[in-house]
Amino acid sequence: MVKHKIVLLFPATVVEQPFLYHLVKDYNLIINVLKANINPRKEGTLVLELAGDKENYDSGIHFLESRGVKTVPLEQQIVWNEERCTQCGACTVICPTSALEMIRPEMTVTFNGEKCIACGHCLKACPARAVEEHY
Ligand code: SF4
Ligand code: SF4
Repeated sequence: MVKHKIVLLFPATVVEQPFLYHLVKDYNLIINVLKANINPRKEGTLVLELAGDKENYDSGIHFLESRGVKTVPLEQQIVWNEERCTQCGACTVICPTSALEMIRPEMTVTFNGEKCIACGHCLKACPARAVEEHY
């Protein structure tokens, strides 16, 4: 059994197709939708936790890629630039999963991509633009 958080990027041409249905029915995968931004006839993004037998998981990812859906590991989507970070702590107050966290008593900020659900709150909160969204 494998379990990963991934971001699916749908081009406008395929955004209305029932990909999640096929992942469940054809590849026996367990899906937990963490975030969705799907607009009819426009590009869409979906953040998922996807779990299942490794062979089925790999086949499901291959199915998505073969239909034009790009898949990106979630930890690659939100990128924290430590050098640009001023350690102000604003993001750590609003991060719902403590992916961005203030370590005490050192009072230094750290980022754990495994905990991040790509909600985007930190992007708006950061005055130094030290957090970026990468596709
Ligand atoms: S995108 Fe959301 S979960 Fe991820 S680090 Fe930023 S605030 Fe936290
Ligand atoms: S809001 Fe930006 S500058 Fe402040 S701690 Fe977070 S990443 Fe660093």
